[in-house]
Amino acid sequence: MSVAQHLIVFTVGGLLLGFLGPSSAGVPLSRYEATLKQQSEVEDPSLGLYDDNDKVVRLNVDNFNATVLDQNRGALVEFYNTYCGHCRRFAPTYKVIAEHLLPWSEVLIVAAIDCAAEENNGVCRNYEVMGYPTLRYLGPGFQPSAGHYGQSLLTQDETEIRGLLAGMLAAENMTSSHNNTLWPSFHTVTENDSASSLFEGLSSVKQYVAVVHEPENSTVGIETAMFLLAWPAVEVRRVLDAKVAAKFKIEPTNLPLSLVDRKGEIKAYAPENANSESYAKQIEKVLREKNITPRPVKLVQPRTTVATKSGEQSDLIKEVQRNKHFVYQADLEQAIRTVLHNEVSKVNDIGGERLLALQRFLTVLQRYNPLGANGHKLVNHLKDYVVQFNEQLSGEQFEQELKRLEAQLSPVYSSTHFVGCAGSKPRLRGYSCSLWTLFHFMTVQAESNEESSDPLEVLQAMHGYIKNFFGCTECAEHFQAMASRRKIWSVPNKEEAVLWLWAAHNEVNQRLAGDDTEDPEFPKLQFPSPNSCPECRRSPDTKSENLEIDWNKDAVLGFLRNIHNPQFINRYGVQREELLHPSADKMRQKRQISSVFTDMDMRMGMLLYAFCIVMMVLAFKLFVFKGYRKKPYGHDLLGKV
Ligand SMILES: Cc1cc2nc3c(=O)[nH]c(=O)nc-3n(C[C@H](O)[C@H](O)[C@H](O)COP(=O)(O)OP(=O)(O)OC[C@H]3O[C@@H](n4cnc5c(N)ncnc54)[C@H](O)[C@@H]3O)c2cc1C
Repeated sequence: MSVAQHLIVFTVGGLLLGFLGPSSAGVPLSRYEATLKQQSEVEDPSLGLYDDNDKVVRLNVDNFNATVLDQNRGALVEFYNTYCGHCRRFAPTYKVIAEHLLPWSEVLIVAAIDCAAEENNGVCRNYEVMGYPTLRYLGPGFQPSAGHYGQSLLTQDETEIRGLLAGMLAAENMTSSHNNTLWPSFHTVTENDSASSLFEGLSSVKQYVAVVHEPENSTVGIETAMFLLAWPAVEVRRVLDAKVAAKFKIEPTNLPLSLVDRKGEIKAYAPENANSESYAKQIEKVLREKNITPRPVKLVQPRTTVATKSGEQSDLIKEVQRNKHFVYQADLEQAIRTVLHNEVSKVNDIGGERLLALQRFLTVLQRYNPLGANGHKLVNHLKDYVVQFNEQLSGEQFEQELKRLEAQLSPVYSSTHFVGCAGSKPRLRGYSCSLWTLFHFMTVQAESNEESSDPLEVLQAMHGYIKNFFGCTECAEHFQAMASRRKIWSVPNKEEAVLWLWAAHNEVNQRLAGDDTEDPEFPKLQFPSPNSCPECRRSPDTKSENLEIDWNKDAVLGFLRNIHNPQFINRYGVQREELLHPSADKMRQKRQISSVFTDMDMRMGMLLYAFCIVMMVLAFKLFVFKGYRKKPYGHDLLGKV
């Protein structure tokens, strides 16, 4: 092989390597930017859990007052957090409620506000919402005042909600707190009533009176009246007494309702089911047969800036899926940002245990802060600010100080999006994923910190934070129960603290595996997976997640130390490298390479390089050897005789 041939091999090898890298693993900047754009649409907080296909009125800070305060109709308002699993699970039910109650909308709207969207902090704080989801009824003419933030509905069952609302709407008539002419009277029929007296005082538009038997402890008559709101030709009257009902041909069990016309004719009906919707349908059917039609019912959505969603799996997700166990700088930053802006700032009164929890959280965050230099200053100042308070601080004060400091130190964050915690679809993963990541990161940093010997410092801060601030109420309750069951306060040393959190997280993973909130692209498996850490399981072929895994805890600890090592925190998605710790700059290049190339690519590249070196050595040897062979003919290497 000639030197030229060797050179060709080398060049082709180099070219191949250059080609292999970006095409197989890297995301060129423009594609990455496109991905971020796509992701920003996916994560747009204004999207919340409800969209244009739903009959839920979407509230936000701009339209909240105008839509629900001082109106001549009531509102059922759900205060929720997009990232709360329980809220996500409840969302389909709430959509059904909104759909079913659409015919009530001239008297009651079904609305929701996303408290995870930072701009809504003020509203959620003012309404003292501490658990999610929270359902409140705000009646007509409602104005919030100290201690009065609407009536809470402590159920998530559709039938119960409907019944409670019916009761509250009927009660409004007694306090005459509205001037809505469409509001039904909800009158009951008495023993003095007759077919003709039912029409007394009614406008001539009313051609029929529907008499509905309403058993004790039921609201079926009230609800039927609500369902028939769009039918001006009919007035609904409730009858509570079986004897009175009989006057109107009603037999409570078989024929629970009747229709009376102006001529005094009465006809009883047997609806398909014993519920208000079915009663209303029966009456509607009769009216349609008489060529009577309803007013159109249309839900008017307040103006919102809802971005177009994209459910498509992004390049970013594909990239992250290759290295599922990586810990990303962007996620740690998003967790801190959400904690400060959305969770702590949203709480109305931060006093007593809550204040202590915040001080503890900021203390550990100050010690094990993954942010860059400005982020360190921010957390230091915030902590100093919060520890000044002995008794009480308001979320509003905290938010003001946070914003003042951020403006002064700006820019603080090097990234703007979730990366490892980005969901493959809107509303999946995100904050709760990043919060776990942050606490794992902090337990691992604490383990190697000589300054503190307290094995519980991070776990205690986490426990206090989750209990007092985490917007997923159900998660917080589960976590506290798990913490006492798993004896969190008896964790003996820092290594065990790291492992305690790992095991607790795995317990949650196991409980949520296959749950509605699971991202299909990121199934909840026991962590770390056999692929990420083969040596972490003593029986590597334990395939079934139901089998008790025989963990090698030393290997798990080593693995957790590794992935949370600040030197290996992945900076994919970081847009402002310059904000991060300067000493990390050298490592960054290494990290960039490892984030751009997969292990396979690295191995291929190394192989190719090794091959090229061998070829070069061969070339050199051949060259020298040829030179020696030429000597007997009287030529040296330069061809001289
Ligand atoms: C304290 C807490 C309690 C929660 N309780 C509930 C609940 O009761 N009900 C509910 O519906 N949701 C709960 N959640 C939310 C839920 O656990 C997930 O965060 C959410 O469903 C998103 O899941 P995910 O797939 O993004 O991964 P997550 O489970 O959030 O994990 C985040 C990342 O951590 C890593 N990881 C996974 N497991 C481990 C582990 N064992 N050790 C170390 N790292 C790991 C992985 O890289 C993963 O991508 C809770 C969240 C928190 C923070």
